[in-house]
Amino acid sequence: MTDKQLLAPLAGWVLPLTAVPDPVFAEGMMGPGVAIDPTGDTLHAPCDARVQTLHAAGHAITLDLGDGVSLLVHIGIDTVRLGGSAFTPLVAPGDSVRAGDALIRFDLDAIVRQAASAVTPVLLVEGAATIAPIAGEGLIAVGAPLARISAATAEGGLADAAAGETLRRDATVLLPHGLHARPAARIVAAVRDSGAEVTLTAGDDSASATSPIALLSLGLAQGRAVTITARGGDAAGAIDAVVALLSAEVDAPPPAVAPPPAAAPSLEPGALPGVPAAPGVAIGRAVWLRPDIPELPTTGEGVTIERARLAEGIAAVTADLAATAGGGQIGGVLAAHRAILDDPDLRGRAEAGIANGMAAAAAMMTAAEAQGAQLRATGNARIAERADDIRDVALRVVHAILGTRAAAVSVPAGAIVLADDLLPSQFAALAAAQVAGFAVVGGGPTSHVAMLAAGLGVPMVVALGDALRVIADGTMLILDADAGAVVADPAPDRIAQAQTVIDRRAAAEAAARAAGDAPAATADGTAIHVYANLGSIADAEAAAAAGAEGCGLLRTEILFLDRAVAPDVAEQAADYRGVVAALPGRPVVIRLLDVGGDKPAPYLAIPPEENPALGLRGIRVSLARPEVLDTQLRAILAVPEIDRVRIMVPMVASVAELIAVRAALDRLRDELGIGPVPLGAMVETPAAAATADLIAAHADFLSIGSNDLTQYVLAMDRGNPAVASGIDGLHPAVLRLIGMTCDGAATRGVPVSVCGGLAADPLAAPILIGLGVRTLSVPPARVPATKALVGRLTLAAVRTHAAAATAAAGAAEVRALARQFAEEISR
Ligand code: PEP
Ligand code: MG
Repeated sequence: MTDKQLLAPLAGWVLPLTAVPDPVFAEGMMGPGVAIDPTGDTLHAPCDARVQTLHAAGHAITLDLGDGVSLLVHIGIDTVRLGGSAFTPLVAPGDSVRAGDALIRFDLDAIVRQAASAVTPVLLVEGAATIAPIAGEGLIAVGAPLARISAATAEGGLADAAAGETLRRDATVLLPHGLHARPAARIVAAVRDSGAEVTLTAGDDSASATSPIALLSLGLAQGRAVTITARGGDAAGAIDAVVALLSAEVDAPPPAVAPPPAAAPSLEPGALPGVPAAPGVAIGRAVWLRPDIPELPTTGEGVTIERARLAEGIAAVTADLAATAGGGQIGGVLAAHRAILDDPDLRGRAEAGIANGMAAAAAMMTAAEAQGAQLRATGNARIAERADDIRDVALRVVHAILGTRAAAVSVPAGAIVLADDLLPSQFAALAAAQVAGFAVVGGGPTSHVAMLAAGLGVPMVVALGDALRVIADGTMLILDADAGAVVADPAPDRIAQAQTVIDRRAAAEAAARAAGDAPAATADGTAIHVYANLGSIADAEAAAAAGAEGCGLLRTEILFLDRAVAPDVAEQAADYRGVVAALPGRPVVIRLLDVGGDKPAPYLAIPPEENPALGLRGIRVSLARPEVLDTQLRAILAVPEIDRVRIMVPMVASVAELIAVRAALDRLRDELGIGPVPLGAMVETPAAAATADLIAAHADFLSIGSNDLTQYVLAMDRGNPAVASGIDGLHPAVLRLIGMTCDGAATRGVPVSVCGGLAADPLAAPILIGLGVRTLSVPPARVPATKALVGRLTLAAVRTHAAAATAAAGAAEVRALARQFAEEISR
């Protein structure tokens, strides 16, 4: 082809591709190019071309420049999620366009507000050509010279590469996760720099190292043999680089699971240390779960056939999910899986794989791995955990396409299941098989499966690390998920001791359930309300059955977390009404949306933040987006039994936030003619705890979110497995702030509850009551046991105990004191 000049398709600021805030573009995985941060609202043709494809969401266009050369312009990052709302295409596939013609008009404000970034990559995605920027970094007008596209041979690179002898080397893939997107991109970059022409061959399949997608499509798992051939340029250097990249990750590996700090409660000798994810103790034989990834055909049988297969596979799994019953947490996971199947980005990637010649199953799996890699690259453990869900869903689609079945998870009842990682769909089958417990090499204490295990009362320990792998199938184990440890081959007297703990718990649980709806009170007659934390109508039903006296926390964001479009008043109102109706006669605390940080909501795209836990989250989001607050308050006020509803504000850091919410609430109440509705503040920031007296002056109640309070007081990310073992709400610093909160609230006569995880910890609850807390809000399954525990306490005893706990030197010492206290009250 003859050289072509590309004119700036947008007014804006020219940036190098490496500045694009998305590794898929920044690392050149989609192809080389430049980027523009736009200031205008129209995308123009950068040269004469034919419109090749136009994405259905209107945010991306490919242009055929002739001679097999294609250009992709992708307006903004993650803009596919806008569902086309911000884009008006002015051309259609097949149209011929002249340089400067308007192609797509877009709403820049909407992109800036709702997408990850407006930066627009302009990429060479196909063809034997190179692209070189002409314009330097800085402002550019539409139509100004931007870059030059030249035939690749004109640069001399490929011509050189074609010369010289062909070198060959055999190697083995040592990468633990096989050749996935990141090392593939690194290989492409290294080979490009060497100027050599490099091919990887595994079995009958070969891929040029110019294409990360081609490399991924080889489907190279750890242990696969590969032959690397290279010629031209620095062929020997290229082979060395490829072998090195097949052997080890260049990027920092995911954070290692740190061993528990020295200050952690001392475990018995020989116990494997991990992180508690769901409480309880279990005894059973080890059964390893092995991943069940079928052999994937890599080469497709043509785009039409493979697209149809993909569509059928997705439809089959969608129907399966729709037919699977599940309420509560399991219902939430099913909804999340449906949302993943609907994700246009995942489908788009799979379709792109098919367009590149892949078979549908391999394209789906590759797309899932690429999307998963992107999530893991955020470095946010909670977001990264979603990668497991995506992989799980993709595997189901693969089985549907291939007509294979995931090997049925057959585990004998009472077994302790060991796994590298657990997938939510495996978990549902395992729960039905009545396994005794879970021990996981990796995982996080806040993953979906950890929530599922806790909800069903199956103990789980995560982050046990490689040491778990030495345990063989059939080994007798004690899983102590209270201490976060696994004991292999325990002595008979140790087994007997664990059995006593299990029996005692089971008996106490049965007795507690028998107490039914009776309100909780200490042995000396002080009422302590035991409420439930809810995330769905099914949870509310479970809470009512468990005897909860009310709901102390409805996590409204959980109801709508996987939505692409913001829920309107009617949709929200229907859920709130359902929860309130499921708890007849009892108070229900509805928490305002708590998104941001570790709880991203796709429909409220919040631009990436360097420190999301310290960024736009909780009430800060609702105050920054008044229409979100307005919609939610209207939905809450639409609940017919509004006299039983209380509204709670998350992540309060200052009085002004509460005042702003009250003003919005009062305005709407006036408009709708509704009387007062109690408004409370969550105490989750050290600021709120330290100024509890000031906040209480404007609040009808305070509720301590101990999960967040602990992470902010100890400066430890609650979703990061590397520090999970150190995050303990029984740290005296956290307890002292809880004490300050109770004291501050008492000056205004305002009641204090705890709705974080600490309330459900039997070692913590007596201390909380001793500090002045009068309501504990716990998961529905923990309601009976918490009520029973309260009945064994006296105020005098818990006050003395709380004073000792706040004076202790650390969390381990507090836990030791609390264990001693627990033994005393159970005598
Ligand atoms: C908390 O932080 O303790 C809390 C209850 O809120 P969430 O866990 O939903 O952040
Ligand atoms: Mg919180």
